Amino acid sequence: MQPTATVILKSGRDRSVRQRHPRLFAGAVKAIDGRPRDGDVVDVADNKGEWLARGVINQQAQIVVRLLTWERDEAIDEAFWRRRVQAAVERRRRDPALQHTDAVRWIFGESDGLPGVIADDYAGHLVVEISTLLAWRALPALVDALVGCVAPKEVVQRADDERLKHEFGGTVPRAVCDALAGQGPAEPVEIHERGLRFLVNLAGGQKTGFYLDQRENRARVAAYCKGAAVLNAFSYTGGFGLHALAGGATRVVNVDSSADALALAERNLLLNSGAQPGQRYECIEADVFALLRDLRAGDDRFDVVILDPPKFAHHPGQVDRAARAYKDLNRVGMGVVRPGGILATFSCSGVVDAALFQKIVFSAALEAGREARVIERLTQASDHPVLLSFPEAEYLKGLICHVE
Ligand code: SAH
Repeated sequence: MQPTATVILKSGRDRSVRQRHPRLFAGAVKAIDGRPRDGDVVDVADNKGEWLARGVINQQAQIVVRLLTWERDEAIDEAFWRRRVQAAVERRRRDPALQHTDAVRWIFGESDGLPGVIADDYAGHLVVEISTLLAWRALPALVDALVGCVAPKEVVQRADDERLKHEFGGTVPRAVCDALAGQGPAEPVEIHERGLRFLVNLAGGQKTGFYLDQRENRARVAAYCKGAAVLNAFSYTGGFGLHALAGGATRVVNVDSSADALALAERNLLLNSGAQPGQRYECIEADVFALLRDLRAGDDRFDVVILDPPKFAHHPGQVDRAARAYKDLNRVGMGVVRPGGILATFSCSGVVDAALFQKIVFSAALEAGREARVIERLTQASDHPVLLSFPEAEYLKGLICHVE
């Protein structure tokens, strides 16, 4: 695709583009030279006309241009998409952390130079999830390139509906919905993570099916679970819980509000140990906040408590409310940790950064009347890298604390 227009920046608004930040916001634009249609390739120039970068325009969105290249000679064509996909796949093939699994995120959006594209591989079942107009336009080329690189058994295409809505001015066009709806195998597929087996529901699961971002952290937390009673709050399909059992836990309690997720958590136990849920491995369908309050009022205590809630803040305006929710959760969570036990607490809200999260956990400890020490700091798995020019890609943080 040839550029059909040049987007000219206001004076003084070229800095982030020069620093290779991949998002250009509408407020930085002085004028558009040409009459591009949404989805066209455009050049970006500073207010004196100096060429800076090239990307795809979408005037319906706040992020008016998604920047793709800072090389003037680089065309945005099929070969471009193929190069970006190949590079992303190659990086992961060289990554030692990804040798213990057949479930890998090959593409992580902007961090791989592909805004709005996620590609998760579940033992050969490839889920491609898109959240930008640009990704929608490039989808056939991207899928082609992925098929060429990783030779999947199957490709499932999905939309991140909430994000796509913003891209299409409020409503996702029918053609896009139809093309991306209701795909995926009816039966869950099986993946492997450090010798454990997990069923992943690609048709109706959360995220693209499994929380790949917590892969390393499941192993790190399991290392504290020898001989431990473990409360796995927000368990989803039992990821942390099964790793805890494999790490020698004597009791695991999974808690989630989703009956479907817990049904898989039970099937995952059977798959790994041949056992049925019972005293050693229970799944409780409940609201974690309510259950923790009940537990705290009684005298059931745990050696290890894992708190891995869903995203509480989606944008900066929600940070204060989210901070209160994290504080409440961690306060009641600490309340059921046996003195001398472990709290593994996470936040996947990108707008709550690691420093703020630590302060929140500190306030929770004060209010709970407990003394806590951070012994490990955790982040997202390496197939969710953080491109330094796009620090917003960092979203998952966790603390492992000793709680007295
Ligand atoms: N730790 C999991 C991922 C957790 S995702 C893993 O490693 O796979 C967050 C989970 O919280 C989801 O399964 C969702 O169903 C559940 N959830 C969200 N709100 C909840 C609530 N108030 N009480 C219980 N579970 C909740």
